Amino acid sequence: MLKQAEILWQRERLTRVREWQDHRPYAEFLKDENIQSCLCRHRLADRAQVEDIIRKARDNATTGTMLSPDDVAVLVNVEDPQLWESIYEAAGWIKRTVYGNRIVLFAPLYVSSPCVNDCTYCGFRSGNPEVHKRSLTIEELRRELLALVDVGHKRLIMVFGEHPASDHEYICRSVEAAYQIKNGPGEIRRANVNAAPLFDSEYKEVHAVGIGTYQVFQETYHRPTYERLHPKGTLKGEYDWRLYALHRAQSAGIDDVGMGVLFGLYDWRYELLGLLYHAMALEKEFGVGPHTISYPRLEPAEGTPFATRSPWIVSDHDFLKIVAVIRLMCPYTGSILTAREKPDLRRQVIRQGGVSQMDAGSRIAVGGYSQMEHAHLPDRQQFLLADTRSLDEFILDLCQEGYLPSFCTAGYREGRTGANFMPLAKHATVKNFCIANGILTFQEYLLDYASEAVRKIGRERIIPNYLEWIDAQVPAVAGRIRENLNRMEVHTNRDLHI
Ligand code: SAM
Ligand code: SF4
Repeated sequence: MLKQAEILWQRERLTRVREWQDHRPYAEFLKDENIQSCLCRHRLADRAQVEDIIRKARDNATTGTMLSPDDVAVLVNVEDPQLWESIYEAAGWIKRTVYGNRIVLFAPLYVSSPCVNDCTYCGFRSGNPEVHKRSLTIEELRRELLALVDVGHKRLIMVFGEHPASDHEYICRSVEAAYQIKNGPGEIRRANVNAAPLFDSEYKEVHAVGIGTYQVFQETYHRPTYERLHPKGTLKGEYDWRLYALHRAQSAGIDDVGMGVLFGLYDWRYELLGLLYHAMALEKEFGVGPHTISYPRLEPAEGTPFATRSPWIVSDHDFLKIVAVIRLMCPYTGSILTAREKPDLRRQVIRQGGVSQMDAGSRIAVGGYSQMEHAHLPDRQQFLLADTRSLDEFILDLCQEGYLPSFCTAGYREGRTGANFMPLAKHATVKNFCIANGILTFQEYLLDYASEAVRKIGRERIIPNYLEWIDAQVPAVAGRIRENLNRMEVHTNRDLHI
């Protein structure tokens, strides 16, 4: 139950949120009846129409054009397994065409779990006494950061509950602490943030400390479901405040934003159209669509019966469809598959869904990395993870499947964000940077953190394979990459990127 001070903080903020909603400066972009009628209209698409859309999606890989709502409604209604195979094949192909065969790795870092909201599905909700909630002190946060950089991580997504103890100032201090951490070659080079919607002035402060991508998931675009799962009187209960959070962030200067849906709250077909309308609205308003799309799936959580009882739980089979359609729908976006999913499914979804970013070695209890040996601390977690392999085990798996594990953060540090990044992704030339910087950051991992098994496959197979790719596709930088690999090995230089 909330304390008096928390109730007052929420009430005061809610008043300001409602004022903002009453004078919302952005046009409406999502209409329930449009989504419903679009899904109905395309219930019975014929094979030729589906094949046309798949062809169009492939063509879009080098122009960055998104599919239309009608196209997406056709795809989500496909029933023929053979056509789905063609969709999966196209998803993998589009991913390789835009980003190359690399997977960017990051770690989630839960910084603060107290929350004034009461989302029915979340272990951190205020009405759940079974999960112990706490905010890390800056000293505790440093210990977590050290545990992460000591295994080789360079990118984070820092996660916060919505609470006076974890307001935008706390977020700023946490991000600064992340960028200050150093241990030998270990450092954090990109700190992304997943936190509740903020006001413009707050976003500006968060932007000023140099956050990477800012993520907010709408959870569900279906307003009646949203209202049922997020009680009125809580901050999260305000649908429009959340729906336009990424608009406010972009207008405050945060030009890489990430959207997402918590799949399992409502019909996944509807949610995919919601994501598309949202991406279209950002493109229209700012000329920059979502940097990433996330598709967390509802997982069991301590003291949270809804998480296993929702009538819309998504099967593994449908989950693969969701990820693949996102790739066809929005070819340029980063696609994030989390450790919520089991290892076998993760393997399949990378291949057939066109995934580009994944977390690994994840612990999601607040303070969990300092107790890395415990895969789960259920009474301190928001939900339970299904893939708790170590970062090194995960990388070995990626290498065995032929992928290039990447810790690249060069785009962000070279100013390739927002409107500077989009043309590269939309014209599928970003892979030239991705593979080159992927090789360099993987070399750092091999030199500084890898097990013998990873070092062997990395040196004998992965680096040579991708150097060959560079020789064939971007010969102009091949000499520089080899020189940098050598500088790292012989002269212990680090953080070399193009
Ligand atoms: N409190 C902020 C918010 O809600 O925007 C920060 C993020 S919350 C800690 C991160 C995300 O976890 C939520 O946006 C939601 O999509 C997801 N989540 C919540 N409960 C979950 C569950 N039971 N299983 C899987 N994901 C869950
Ligand atoms: Fe709080 Fe976010 Fe959990 Fe909702 S999903 S209870 S806002 S931490």
